[in-house]
Amino acid sequence: MATLGNPTNTIAILQKYNFNFQKKFGQNFLIDANILENIISAADIKKEDCVLEIGPGIGTMTQYLCENAREVVAVEIDKKLIPILQEDTLSSYNNVTIINEDILKVDINAIVQEKNAGKPIKVVANLPYYITTPIIMGLFESHVPLESITIMVQKEVAQRMQVGPGTKDYGALSLAVQYYAEPKMMMSVPAGCFMPRPNVDSAVIKLTRHGQPPVLVKDEKLMFDIIRAAFNQRRKTLVNSLNNAAGLNINKDSVLAALDAMGLPATIRGEALTLAQFAQLADFVEQ
Ligand code: SAM
Repeated sequence: MATLGNPTNTIAILQKYNFNFQKKFGQNFLIDANILENIISAADIKKEDCVLEIGPGIGTMTQYLCENAREVVAVEIDKKLIPILQEDTLSSYNNVTIINEDILKVDINAIVQEKNAGKPIKVVANLPYYITTPIIMGLFESHVPLESITIMVQKEVAQRMQVGPGTKDYGALSLAVQYYAEPKMMMSVPAGCFMPRPNVDSAVIKLTRHGQPPVLVKDEKLMFDIIRAAFNQRRKTLVNSLNNAAGLNINKDSVLAALDAMGLPATIRGEALTLAQFAQLADFVEQ
C-alpha cells in the first residue's frame, strides 16, 4: 500500500491504473501531506469518530481518516477509482466502507444508523466544486445527525458561507449555512497542493452544527422559500421579488404589512435582511 499525499506516489498510482482525470467529476487530488494533517486536526478527528468522506478519489485523505477515526465511510461516484481504493490504497484498512454512488443519491441517514447507531457523524471532504451547494444543503435539509462538516471548497464559496447583510457575497447559501451551523474558516489552500491544479483558490471551512437554530421560525420551509425568492432577483425590492416568485403564493399586501410591522421600509431589498428578520417575515406571512 502506497502512502499518498505526495506527488511521487500519487503519480505512481495514477500510472499503474492508467487513470485519467475526469473534469466532469471535479477531480483535483491533494498531494500535500501538511495540508492533509491540518484538515484532520481542523476536523478534530478522534479514535471514537465515525466519518463520512465524500469523494475519496484515490484514497489520499481516506488513509489519514482511517488512521485517526474508528470508522470511515467513503462515497465515490467514479467507478474507475473503486479498484484503486479496494485493491491498493485502502486495502490494509479494515475500518473503511467504500460505496460507489453519487452522494446526492445516497441515503446518508441509513449509513449513520448502520455505522454509528444514529449518533452524529463528522463529514470531511475535499469536495467536487461543481456540486458544493447541493451537497451541503442536502446534508442539512435531510437532517442527517451531524456534528460537523469540514470541507475544502472554492475560497469564494467559503467566504459566501460566513458573511452577513451588506456584502456582495451575502445570499441564500450564507443564510442556510448560518441557520444550521457555525461557519469557521480554517485555512487557505494554494492551487499547487492539488493534482491537477484547479483554476480557483481553495479554502477549508468547518461548519459546526448548532444544537438549536439561532432563530425560531414556525415554518422553516416557507422561510427558505422566501430567502431563495429574495435572492433570485436580488436587485429588486423584496416586495417585488416575492410577488413575482413562482410557486410562492404570497401577495404584495401581506409583505407590505409585514415590513411595516417590522419597522422596515417598503423599498428594502432582501439582501439587507438578517436571518432573524427573514424568520420574522416568514412568521408574519404565515399568519
Ligand atoms: N478526496 C480526494 C483528494 O482529496 O485527493 C479527491 C477529491 S476530488 C476534489 C473530488 C472527488 O469527488 C473525486 O474523486 C470525484 O470523482 C468525486 N465525486 C465527484 N462527484 C461526486 C458525487 N456526486 N458523489 C460522490 N463523489 C463524487
